Amino acid sequence: MVVTKGKTNKAKPWTQAREAHHEKELADSKALIRKQPSAIGGSGLFATRAIGRGQLICPLDGTRKTHQEVEAAPRDHWWHEYALGSSAEGWSVIPDLDSVGWHLANHSCNPNAIIDSKRDNYLVARRDIAPDQEITFDYGWERFEPMPCHCGEEHCSGNIGLHYPGGDFDAFTVARMMRTAYVYRNKVPFKRFFYAFKGQLDASKLDTLFELAFGSDKDAAVEWMLREGILSNPGR
Ligand SMILES: [Zn+2]
Repeated sequence: MVVTKGKTNKAKPWTQAREAHHEKELADSKALIRKQPSAIGGSGLFATRAIGRGQLICPLDGTRKTHQEVEAAPRDHWWHEYALGSSAEGWSVIPDLDSVGWHLANHSCNPNAIIDSKRDNYLVARRDIAPDQEITFDYGWERFEPMPCHCGEEHCSGNIGLHYPGGDFDAFTVARMMRTAYVYRNKVPFKRFFYAFKGQLDASKLDTLFELAFGSDKDAAVEWMLREGILSNPGR
């Protein structure tokens, strides 16, 4: 913990004055945002005026559904794209697509906004946002078939939602990751994935693998992994 002279990290008590300030902030937030075409893709959420770091941008409003209800929806239902879940609490928020709100915000690998779950789920500025700037947050998706990311940030991972769970990876998962990386021609997360892959591969083996995986014949990479004993099963 960093100790700053004369300051504590103690949460401020929820007073009437604070509540009034919060209500005003919430009311003002409607004037802060608008919908507009985005360079990242489709439409996006944009600041109409300067938003200061820590300022509330908009509430994460919508209809609450249980995770079971969302999961029961057909695979291609739009809920799956937009449902914003709180896994701890067992419910997801489904936005009103006609409103101007959080659901318009695109993903970025270096977002200027963050979901503040401590403040009852608001989108909050994580740094100063200039007027007309696009408002973004990290979707935090965890899935093996990610969407390509077009956020344009210097350290863009290239994918939305490519995360690496700990523990063992079965052959099917490895093969699928490889195919995803190949399809998106995205070497960076692929490389990171294999470094994380139980440290089984040394640098020269990784180089061989990347040459094969990003060469003309991606199946050669899988064959090579089978020969090297990295994969024991070519996938289902
Ligand atoms: Zn990105």
